[in-house]
Order: sequence, then C-alpha cells, then structure tokens
Amino acid sequence: WASAAMPPLQRFLSGCHADFWSDHDGAVANYIPELGKADPAHFGISLATLDGHVYEVGDSRVPFTIQSMSKPFVFALALDILGSDAVERVIGVEPSGDPFNSIRLNADNHPFNAMVNAGAITCSGLLRQARQADAFDTIRDALGRFAGRKLDVDDAVFASESTTGDRNRAIAYLLRTSDVIKDSVDDVLAVYFRQCAVLITARDCAIMAATLANRGVNPVTGEQVVTPYAVSRTLSVMTSSGMYDFAGEWIYRVGIPAKSGVGGGILASLPARLGLGSYSPRLDGHGNSVRGIKVCEALSAHYGLHMLNRS
Ligand code: GLU
Repeated sequence: WASAAMPPLQRFLSGCHADFWSDHDGAVANYIPELGKADPAHFGISLATLDGHVYEVGDSRVPFTIQSMSKPFVFALALDILGSDAVERVIGVEPSGDPFNSIRLNADNHPFNAMVNAGAITCSGLLRQARQADAFDTIRDALGRFAGRKLDVDDAVFASESTTGDRNRAIAYLLRTSDVIKDSVDDVLAVYFRQCAVLITARDCAIMAATLANRGVNPVTGEQVVTPYAVSRTLSVMTSSGMYDFAGEWIYRVGIPAKSGVGGGILASLPARLGLGSYSPRLDGHGNSVRGIKVCEALSAHYGLHMLNRS
C-alpha cells in the first residue's frame, strides 16, 4: 500500500512490495536443512541513501542468515588486513560461469574469484592464518561495522551446515593441496560456516550495501569500515561475479553491482548513490531470490539506475 503522502522512495518501495508480494515462484533452499525452515512468505525491502536515510517496507527487520552476502565484505576485509598482494596472489578475479559451489578451480588451481565458495573459503582461510582463533570475531565485528550494529550468529544454521557441508569440505581439501589454504580444513570451515550463519535483516543489508556505495564509510554511523581500494575492488568482483551464474545477465539487465545469498537476501550497491537490501527466501534455479530480483529490476528501471546509462 502506497500513499501519496509518503516520500517518493518510500512510496516506490511500498509499491514494489505490493506488486511482487503475490509472486510465489521459486523454492526455499534446503540443501542446508535448517534453511528449509524459513517462512517463504517473508518479504522485506530496505533502501539506504548516502545521507543516512533508511527506508523500509514489509519484513525488513526479520533476521535471516547472510550466507554468500558475507563474501564481498570478507573479501574487502581480507584486502585491508592482509594487503592486496597476498589476496590477489591466491584468488582470481574472473567470472567462473559455474554455480557458486563448483569444485572447479582455475588453471593455477586457484579460485576463480571471491564470490564463489572456493574463493570465499580462501578469504576465510587467509583471515584464519592472520588472526588464528580470533578470525571469526574479526569477521563478525567487521560485518557489524558495515551494518552499524552488533550481529548475532544462528547457531542452528551453523550446526546444520557444519554437519552437511561435505561439498565445501571437498573444495577446502582441494585448496589445501594447492597450498591456497594452510590451516586445517576444519579450522577454516569453522570460520566460513560461522560467517555464513551471521544474522542480518534487509535493513542491515541496505546499510551494508550503502557503506560499499559510500567508499567504505557507513552512512548511518559515519565510520570508515574499509578502505576505498578494498571497496572498489570488491564492487568490481560483485559486478562480474556477484549473482552466481546469472551475473552477466544481471549486469546487462539491472546494471547495479550486487550479491545474493541462499538465505534469500540480495544486496545491491550503486556507487555514490544508494544501497538496497531485500529478503524473500524463495529462490530461482540460480539461487537468487525471485522477488529480490524483481525489486532490483524495478528499482533500476524506475530510476534509470543502470550504471552504464548515467548522465
Ligand atoms: N553457506 C553457503 C554455502 O557455502 C553459502 C552459499 C550461498 O549463499 O551462495 O553453500
């Protein structure tokens, strides 16, 4: 429901919510059994502007696990903590064209990029090497600074993925054989699985995306969370590889750097403009939230936000 008295952005979000609410396409992910318990009806959208205004509609305060949307932030953090050489030496920046959980590595036996599981596990491994037992707290703390509040972990989702995550275990063993990760597979995956189980809301997601759009400064708290270098490289990889094996189509049609997660979140970050977060757990065949994609398409079309179509 959108009223004429609402600010235009609020009206736009309310209109999207009303328009896409009745879309029941897609299915909640259940390959991590605990994720299957998500309420498929949930639908929240939030948009944060760089002057720190946050608009929200629907289930924008319902917590869900960040999953793959942690990947860009942890990549940015790894660039800052370890330095770009150390990170860029072991993680590529080419789109893989494969699904997120592909076990295929590039010709150097390195991950294609930091947005697929192999690359994200490598980032967690680099941070584990640098921070040892404090690695996860370092990550959680940084994610919290992107969101502007302390974030919790969904222990049930963490436990569920730890018990069933053999494919990621296989990827991590492979990474160890090429010396890309050095700590034990269990230690590295304890960090990665926990990072994927951090709880955020669509509102958090919008602020996190807006922080990337704002050269690393959280527009609500004013804190510089990561360096502009880390942000520009992270947004580059989101542009080419953020939306699973739908990334080419995405940048062609929507034209906004984005990242999605199998928990049902999508975050989109338009540099110098805004951050968008959406939550709706029904996913399409690529693993992207069906309603979330529609919201981003509508936002881009309505405001002419395709990044290569700017005056
Ligand atoms: N924890 C999930 C996995 O590794 C994240 C996947 C995703 O959101 O794409 O399978």
